[in-house]
Amino acid sequence: MIRFRKECYKRPFLNPLNNFQEETQELEVRFDPLLDHCAMFNPALEDKVKLFFGKHDWALVEKMAQKTQETCFMCPPKVYEVTPAYPEDFLPEKRLTKGECTLFPNLFPIALRHAVITVGHAHFRQLKDFSPPLITDGLSLGIEFLRRLKRDPEALVGVICANYLPPAGASLVHPHFQVVASRESFPYLRHLYEKSFMFYQDHGQNFWDLLVAREREERKRFIRKIGRVNFITSFAPLGANEILAVIQGVHALEELEQKDLEDLGQGIAAILSGYQTLGYGTFNFSLFMPPLKERSPWFNPLLRIITRQNMYENYRTDDYFLQRQLGAELILTPPEKLATHMRGVFQED
Ligand SMILES: [Zn+2]
Repeated sequence: MIRFRKECYKRPFLNPLNNFQEETQELEVRFDPLLDHCAMFNPALEDKVKLFFGKHDWALVEKMAQKTQETCFMCPPKVYEVTPAYPEDFLPEKRLTKGECTLFPNLFPIALRHAVITVGHAHFRQLKDFSPPLITDGLSLGIEFLRRLKRDPEALVGVICANYLPPAGASLVHPHFQVVASRESFPYLRHLYEKSFMFYQDHGQNFWDLLVAREREERKRFIRKIGRVNFITSFAPLGANEILAVIQGVHALEELEQKDLEDLGQGIAAILSGYQTLGYGTFNFSLFMPPLKERSPWFNPLLRIITRQNMYENYRTDDYFLQRQLGAELILTPPEKLATHMRGVFQED
């Protein structure tokens, strides 16, 4: 029922680097077993990671952090004083706080409901310094916010997302997550829902449960299971170094437990630390939740986390026509290799 489809092509060309001798490179195109997207892997590019992503310059990030700290509204005490607040009839507390994390409305929303969550008091931190409890507290606020949306009949779908550092789309250095909720699904989320629902209808089984079972059995891309959360590298990634976290046994917002968020937080912290040892310093993630006001046996909470372009002076974007306009992705580090690396990092916990 689950097919990891690959197509391989070889076409010769005359290589000027080798006196125009005929040369053939292999190209592997991988197709996602549920969705339509594909990812391309050319083994000749595997050793070009440094060329594509450069060297992440933490000193530059630190310099940027020093320049912006003074005016940062996410640094305490400002985060408790000058950030936007919700009207009391929606959120009696006005803002939500857990540990070092605080949730408040986005001043310039881009969705029906759009909240920002500051993650930690520190103005900047390296990937290895995102601790499991800190990530868990940030995610918990996002989930609590989605639960409060019971009061908003139009908020039907919700996602918790993150951009870390400017190459990943963040306008502020201070670590933060965001929550977006809407009446209509965002296009990718709708695609994910539709395909998951169709699979359930056609096969009478939940795609995500089957994927976890299959990946556990094959072991090539399975990293680890913590509680009900399964960490797997993506067969046909949507972004560089993509890892999926599938929370099993959860098909509705109210079925998600604090323990699941702790296990997810532990895994995300290990992944971020693993990304840093591979030389990356930025990331995006999205935690797609089942529709907020129904039970959906065909879907599970699903996290997708990827690395983005490293930050250095005049960095080049990692998105080009392939990603933005053709809806595909380039694989530089094969998912199977990434899984081996991450297994080592998870075992150090
Ligand atoms: Zn700050």
